[in-house]
Amino acid sequence: MRALLKRLDTLCHPFPGIHVLGVATSALLITVVMLWPETSESETNAPGLPIPAIAKTVAKTILNDDPVFRVETETVQTGDSLSRLFSRQGLSAQQLLEVTRAESKALKLSRLNVGQTLEFRYDGEALKELAVIKTPFEQLVAVQDSEGQWQLEERVKEADIYIEHARARIDSSLFLAGARAGLPDNMIMELANIYGHVIDFVYEIRQGDEFIVTYEKRYLDGEFIEYGNIIAAEFINDGERYVAIRYTDTAGDTGYYDESGVSLRKAFLRAPLNFRRISSNFKLARKHPVLGLMRAHKGTDYAASTGTPVYAAGDGKVTYRARNGGYGKLVVIKHGNNIETRYAHLSRYGKYRVGSKVKQGQVIGYVGATGLATGPHLHYEFVVNGSHRNPRTVLDQLPKAKTLASDELARYRAVAEPLIASLEAQRTHAELALQTTAR
Ligand SMILES: [Zn+2]
Repeated sequence: MRALLKRLDTLCHPFPGIHVLGVATSALLITVVMLWPETSESETNAPGLPIPAIAKTVAKTILNDDPVFRVETETVQTGDSLSRLFSRQGLSAQQLLEVTRAESKALKLSRLNVGQTLEFRYDGEALKELAVIKTPFEQLVAVQDSEGQWQLEERVKEADIYIEHARARIDSSLFLAGARAGLPDNMIMELANIYGHVIDFVYEIRQGDEFIVTYEKRYLDGEFIEYGNIIAAEFINDGERYVAIRYTDTAGDTGYYDESGVSLRKAFLRAPLNFRRISSNFKLARKHPVLGLMRAHKGTDYAASTGTPVYAAGDGKVTYRARNGGYGKLVVIKHGNNIETRYAHLSRYGKYRVGSKVKQGQVIGYVGATGLATGPHLHYEFVVNGSHRNPRTVLDQLPKAKTLASDELARYRAVAEPLIASLEAQRTHAELALQTTAR
């Protein structure tokens, strides 16, 4: 058993920067460790589990840095144009004309963004290449051919994608927990977005909630460039476990799905407002305020500053948009036959009028304090067949979320299984570590 623990330890504690292949392999080995009798050493006979399909930049031309050129760099400032950059380089209007003649509808050098870098590459005094550095991975390059004609080409460098895991337990706030686990804020926001249809991050996060995130880090020539996608996650909220696996279907649509291939995008958002805007006030609720409030005044209050965008919780039709007594400025959306959502105390309305169709996430108004409100907040009601309900408790009766079709499902499983195994290994490892410390 000790050997097994030791192996789990090495598997679950990869060096920072285990390669894509590494994760697939470790997931595979973990599966083997779990299935094989512990005396067996036969992981060499491991069944060939597929490697998860990880999104990669498609190379058009792999960059070949030519060290022969002398490179002059220009950074685009406000008000800069290509002609201004050319004159800064001491190049003539005629040269600019020759270079830009190579532009097409799809490829345009002259469409510059402030802060962008351009490289003027010279052979002696002669301009041979002009590169617009779009991202560390992508360049649009004007190249002079042997006849002196200019051609435009896109050059793409392939990122080295490394997979890492982070695991955290929430003590006081989601963001603090994320920061302790070494995750940047925008990845925590991404995590909140992934689970935004399942968990209300304002009211339902509990002390002791846990999450594990498997994510990409993108490197170029051994140098860390940026964080990539969350490719798998597990969130334990109030004792319930929610798995999310990133998957791009055969039609090219990317989404997050649970173990059985059911989309995490549900018919309704759990909190119908911009979580980013209230995240700064984010505090853990000590008890369950939703239930208390539901009894008290049949709705959920989200404190947020005036002007915070309020989203349509689900697809539907606006059936009311006017002042209504204590509700102040009120918007009501009808979803199907029996569900209605109400948004009160708005400071102003979105662009959707009575009778308009709205899609989930479209802005139907802005937080305010109109009507009977002591301060700016959104008062949100979820009404099923005329009675007020807590949206979470009626989740099962709501329209079903998208489930992957059976032909898609086999492909999904091939991607998901190693990732789920890897999440499980992370958790098992953490539990083992906990037992060791407790001893
Ligand atoms: Zn209220």
